[in-house]
Amino acid sequence: MSPSPQVLVVGAGPAGLSLAAELAEFGISCRVVEKRTQRQTLSRACTVEPRTLELLDMRGRAAGVLARGRRCQHPPLGNDRTLDYGLLDTPFPFSLSIPQAWTVDALRVSAEAAGAVISPGVEMTALRQDESGVDVDLRGPDGSSTVRVQYVVGCDGVNSAVRDAVGVDFDGWNYDDSLMMGDVRLANPPGDAEYARITRRGMVGVFPFQDGTCRVIVLDREKFRVPADTPLTLDDLSESSAAILGTDIGIQDPVWLSRFRSSQRHAKRYRVGRVLLAGDAAHTHIPSGGQGLQTAVQDAFNLGWKLRAVLAGWAPDGLLDTYEAERYPIARETLRKTDLAFRFETSDSLPARLVRKVVMGSMRITPLHRLNLEHLSGITLRYPADGGGRWTGRRVPDRPLVAGGSGATRLYELFRDGGFVLLGPGPEPAHAAAWSSRLRTGTLAEPIGRGWPPHVLVRPDGYVAWAGTAVDDGLTEALHRWCGEPDQVAR
Ligand SMILES: Cc1cc2nc3c(=O)[nH]c(=O)nc-3n(C[C@H](O)[C@H](O)[C@H](O)COP(=O)(O)OP(=O)(O)OC[C@H]3O[C@@H](n4cnc5c(N)ncnc54)[C@H](O)[C@@H]3O)c2cc1C
Repeated sequence: MSPSPQVLVVGAGPAGLSLAAELAEFGISCRVVEKRTQRQTLSRACTVEPRTLELLDMRGRAAGVLARGRRCQHPPLGNDRTLDYGLLDTPFPFSLSIPQAWTVDALRVSAEAAGAVISPGVEMTALRQDESGVDVDLRGPDGSSTVRVQYVVGCDGVNSAVRDAVGVDFDGWNYDDSLMMGDVRLANPPGDAEYARITRRGMVGVFPFQDGTCRVIVLDREKFRVPADTPLTLDDLSESSAAILGTDIGIQDPVWLSRFRSSQRHAKRYRVGRVLLAGDAAHTHIPSGGQGLQTAVQDAFNLGWKLRAVLAGWAPDGLLDTYEAERYPIARETLRKTDLAFRFETSDSLPARLVRKVVMGSMRITPLHRLNLEHLSGITLRYPADGGGRWTGRRVPDRPLVAGGSGATRLYELFRDGGFVLLGPGPEPAHAAAWSSRLRTGTLAEPIGRGWPPHVLVRPDGYVAWAGTAVDDGLTEALHRWCGEPDQVAR
């Protein structure tokens, strides 16, 4: 029998696979159990946004997703208005159109290459924890078994069995309205690119994929109250889209079709002792703005290095608790914004139409356009500074590096070891060498941005831990606070 892994991840969706790669690549033994035996065809998310690509790029895992996706620099806002991703300060100035199943394929390849063991057809049925570990009951093709692990992470989606097993409430509500969607081919596509149109009757969005199929999303105000479990036919989708657009786009050859009714729910806690929750198991919301998959991957990157630090024995006190402290407010804000967006998208009331007009109009103003886009793409996401100063918690954009011993040519490559990165104008400060097992150093060839101080300590997930005009400004304290004890005295 193979030895028990240190971490059991329940669910091989975007959250579980991203987390498994984060753990396994850096020496933590990790098994992912997935109750499905087959790849899911009903492919939900249809985009991967820049911040998600940046996180994957920091570990050298973006190529598989990029190869399967279609780069869209100008996603539609509706009625011939488009977004301009070229305004973003990122190596990935586009929204990647890609069915979720293909993203999951790429993430699975990365997780397996990193050394994670993925067990399809195995369901988590119960768990019990004590001070030193968690006993997890599994049911699979070979019958039932129990494994003992140090941590369990529930990445098992909206109906999380892990969340139920630790008794965490998932408060919220279900939306009354149902939408229609499917992956299809179009005989008369409205153009060769992404497309969205809003009329009094509703909204139609078209997102072409690399293989010639496309996601069609139809929001028909006259069909909102059709129960979500009513089967969706090609005729239903075609009739509604033609009624909204006033023309037939020739919907055919469905890969899948589905009605969909969303809910908005948030777990009360993300951690109960040795059991943690991530992705849809922790929060779920309407897909407006395409944030669910992005949030799931971000959870995994925030949690991954903290769990590694705890298991490697160098985590400072309370580090694992910062996962919930940092990710909970982000999810709460996402829930609030997506709900607001959905209400304005779906309502035909005069105030809603006026707001839509104002929002569309505001997109003519470049700084407002950029601001909206930065939120949508995830690049303005920041964690609480928690007394750490103005820069703490901010995302660090990619920048070229002055050639050095590491061989890295740009900042994001320095994160490939999964450690902290200390940026400064010159040679590495002597006292930072004491943390060299967890820290890499680099010199930027150009400033991060206007006003940024020259010395910046960046966490393994790409957010600022400390920044100062001189290393005497508190670097040593920040290293102790975030990186634990120096190597010589590490446990
Ligand atoms: C219709 C629809 C459209 C969407 N569109 C978008 C979009 O455009 N953009 C976007 O970013 N997001 C979108 N989302 C949201 C996105 O799909 C989710 O946020 C994302 O899948 C969450 O990933 P996850 O890994 O947390 O959970 P999931 O993808 O749900 O994965 C959970 C996995 O856990 C497995 N599992 C469950 N219970 C157990 C158990 N007991 N034991 C073992 N395995 C178990 C499941 O089989 C599943 O594979 C959409 C969602 C829906 C429903």
